[in-house]
Amino acid sequence: MRNKKLLKHDYKPLHNSYSYLNALQRKRVMPIRFRLFTICVLFLVLGFTLLASYQILFFPRLKLNGSRVVEVEYKSKFKDPGYRSSYQGKDISSQVKVSGKVDSSRLGSYPITYQVTSHGMSTIKTRIVKVVDSKAPQIEFLTDNKELYICPDTKYLYDDYKAIDNYDGDITDQVKVKEIGNVMKYQVKDSSGNQTVVERKVLYKDIEKPSLTLDTPTIMLMKGEAFTDSTYQVKDNCSSHVKVSVSGNVDTNQVGKYERVFKAKDDYGNVTKKIQKVIVMEPVKKGVIYLTFDDGPRSGTTDIILNILKEKGVKATFFVTSSGPDDLIKREFDEGHSIGLHTASHNYSSIYSSSDAYFDDLKIVSDRVERITGQKPSLLRFPGGSSNTISKHYSVGIMSYLTKEVLNRGYRYYDWNIDSRDAEGGRFSASQIASFVTSKLSHDKVNMVLMHDVKVTTKDALASIIDYGLANGYSFEAITPYTDMVVQRVNN
Ligand code: ZN
Repeated sequence: MRNKKLLKHDYKPLHNSYSYLNALQRKRVMPIRFRLFTICVLFLVLGFTLLASYQILFFPRLKLNGSRVVEVEYKSKFKDPGYRSSYQGKDISSQVKVSGKVDSSRLGSYPITYQVTSHGMSTIKTRIVKVVDSKAPQIEFLTDNKELYICPDTKYLYDDYKAIDNYDGDITDQVKVKEIGNVMKYQVKDSSGNQTVVERKVLYKDIEKPSLTLDTPTIMLMKGEAFTDSTYQVKDNCSSHVKVSVSGNVDTNQVGKYERVFKAKDDYGNVTKKIQKVIVMEPVKKGVIYLTFDDGPRSGTTDIILNILKEKGVKATFFVTSSGPDDLIKREFDEGHSIGLHTASHNYSSIYSSSDAYFDDLKIVSDRVERITGQKPSLLRFPGGSSNTISKHYSVGIMSYLTKEVLNRGYRYYDWNIDSRDAEGGRFSASQIASFVTSKLSHDKVNMVLMHDVKVTTKDALASIIDYGLANGYSFEAITPYTDMVVQRVNN
């Protein structure tokens, strides 16, 4: 009983101690799990924090200027708006590598890649460049831009415009034309959808003058020679028959200048007028001596020559330049001699370099003579004569052109058929010069004598030439605007 009691007694504590241990064990398990959990959480937070700061702080920063998608006009250069890059606050923009090409000659999208690497870490960004055509095509009219005149009783031919696009090229065939009231509307669209609309006023009216070209703007004929009107070319935009009337009389028995007026009139009253010059020339004067003096005037020689001419009662012709005093030209003119033009500069390399150069130079001396005499000269002598070959060095074929063009401009040019050789560098004496001339004189031809009033020997030879001429039945005359031209063969 007692054992039982004891047992019972012992059992109790035993039972009690087991529960206590259980309770104790349970208390110990909970803190360990909690600690593990806390460590894990702390580890994760730390990891994330490191990773986060690692990303923010250690990848290079790269920022593109402007927008991510930019447009560039067709065929114009793409200019990169730029970028900025830094690493931990330090500018590393110069380390950015840009790749990708924009071909602005082809429409399309082109990616441009920007990459920057620092401390083994890279950042990449991309921009899209779109090459676009935003320019509208151009419509151009071959005639008037604002108003369209169409010949009465005809239809519009749709042939007087052009449409050009910067990208598509010629798109004339895509132009749509509509006639609305008195307005013609032209519309065209390019392949990128850019549209152009142009309007023109339509007038069924002919305001264009006929074109009239005279085959011979200047006619030269000898006194007594039969005169035949020159032919002409006439054209009109609307009329097929253009009436041409001619007025103005020419008396071929009277030496002088005449004007013929040609009038071309179309069916709608538009008139074009052209004037033709007719020059009735003196008959060839055989046995006449024309003394001509080039390159002057010059003080000390020209004045003495004028004295001799005056004393002998002989008229001559002076082909002057821009040199010498005005007074001597005035005296030549006042004493009844003819003044012709020999160019202002007498500089072969410049006057024969082009037609413009020749006429520009000629104008200088022409203006000089007109200022002194009050008359516009029409007589010419080419430096070196029309047969010169020196002009070939400066412009091939210029003499062939000039000899025709001077006539078109109302001039006449005179070469020579007797050379006094007074210009040959003082090689010949006054008596030799005189005999070069007198030995060639003839009663069967015109005697056009080349001399130079700037030469000392010329003035010394002159008196004996005149004396010989007068003693042998020759007469001396100055060239007039109606004197037949004496010309040499053109060699250039
Ligand atoms: Zn000369």
